[in-house]
Amino acid sequence: MAAVESVAKPTMECETQHFLMAQRQLDEIALEMGLDPELHERLRYPKRSLIVTIPVRMDDGTVHSYTGYRVQHDVTLGPAKGGVRYHPDVNLGEVSGLAMLMTWKCALMGLPYGGAKGGIRCQPWKLSAGELERLTRRYTSEIINLLGPDKDIPAPDMYTNEQTMAWIMDTYSINVGHTVPSVVTGKPVSIGGSYGRQEATGRGVAFCVRRAVAQVGMEKPTPTVVVQGFGNVGAVTARLLHDAGYKVVGVSDVHGGVYNPSGLDIPRLQAYLSEMGKVGGFPHADQVTNAELLQLKCDVLVPAALANQIHEGNVGTLNCRIVVEGANGPTSPEADLQLHEAGVFVVPDILANAGGVTVSYFEWVQGLMHLFWSEDEVNDRLEQIMGRACDQVFEMSARTRLRPRMSALRIGIARLAEAKRLRGLYP
Ligand code: NAD
Repeated sequence: MAAVESVAKPTMECETQHFLMAQRQLDEIALEMGLDPELHERLRYPKRSLIVTIPVRMDDGTVHSYTGYRVQHDVTLGPAKGGVRYHPDVNLGEVSGLAMLMTWKCALMGLPYGGAKGGIRCQPWKLSAGELERLTRRYTSEIINLLGPDKDIPAPDMYTNEQTMAWIMDTYSINVGHTVPSVVTGKPVSIGGSYGRQEATGRGVAFCVRRAVAQVGMEKPTPTVVVQGFGNVGAVTARLLHDAGYKVVGVSDVHGGVYNPSGLDIPRLQAYLSEMGKVGGFPHADQVTNAELLQLKCDVLVPAALANQIHEGNVGTLNCRIVVEGANGPTSPEADLQLHEAGVFVVPDILANAGGVTVSYFEWVQGLMHLFWSEDEVNDRLEQIMGRACDQVFEMSARTRLRPRMSALRIGIARLAEAKRLRGLYP
């Protein structure tokens, strides 16, 4: 690891296990591609990080203070772009690692953005709609100096949604004195959102599944699929693959999963979830735990819930030919290497779930132009960009024998490095 050892290693508050995992990926590919050590050092840490305390009046009249974050990893290629998540695990390291991944993802997809991420450490499922609104508005006002359509553009992530984006957009607009739809993406269509945005990440994941199946030369007419997580990403992926003739044999949510080797009826499962609030108990299926779900025999496994679900402790028990990462960081670096050695084809997160940020980019462009596209136009353009990125990553892997993850990182980081070289160092 000469390239790593030759650079200074300041100790940072963000150096949690999650962040160090993202940094290790960078170190590995930097060494492999011979990245300039001074540039490598600049990319190992976020450009700027803000931690805020967010006092919120609760419904019972008391005031509770939450901790929120916004981290911009890099802004060389354009404004910072990245989601906002509400979750008890949110901390500076997690947000910083995810911001770094956003930098690589935007560069890989050829989008004119840098990478960012934000979040609030909270238990969103315990908050009322009023408490969530006050939390979101105060968070926005605390980080407002970082935000703007030319500076930093939030989007939804875990446990945030269109409504959250509408509150952020409204709070920002009121503070600057006029309506600024392009300060967020993933907002409702009625206030400047894009058709196709809500389904975009799952649509991109489903597209990558089809491309990966073709890439490995799987000849089965109906490949089998298991999806972990049945939220925005997982449920859309499952439905689109079901519609495309794939057999979705297992899905899960936070409470557990359901399995039917003959295939689950996904539209009926979605209706069941709307009524019952969970997939567990769905008729004509066996109940499985989330741990058991990952071990089910299938052609394609789609982790679409949380980070670090496939790790050294369970990677040997997986029973699939392809992994397509809907979630961010679902596979640990050690597990990734083991999967590669076992011949499992892994489509990495920065490619597989990039449909969301790609249609976010379309939403931002449409907002700036005040000219809106049809859903078919959005989906066609998404397929073009996803297809081009898949071609580039798969071609580089075939040519260099690099894992697809390393190929994707290499393409993204090489683009960023070229931009940084041309812009030079100020002053
Ligand atoms: P979501 O909140 O809509 O859905 C998450 C799903 O995961 C739910 O079904 C939930 O029950 C399930 N889940 C939660 N904890 C679990 C656990 N311990 N085991 C199994 N399942 C669990 O979130 P989402 O928007 O679908 O995001 C899922 C993942 O995709 C996250 O890693 C997110 O960062 C990533 N992602 C989302 C988008 C997007 O546009 N929404 C874009 C890129 C990446």
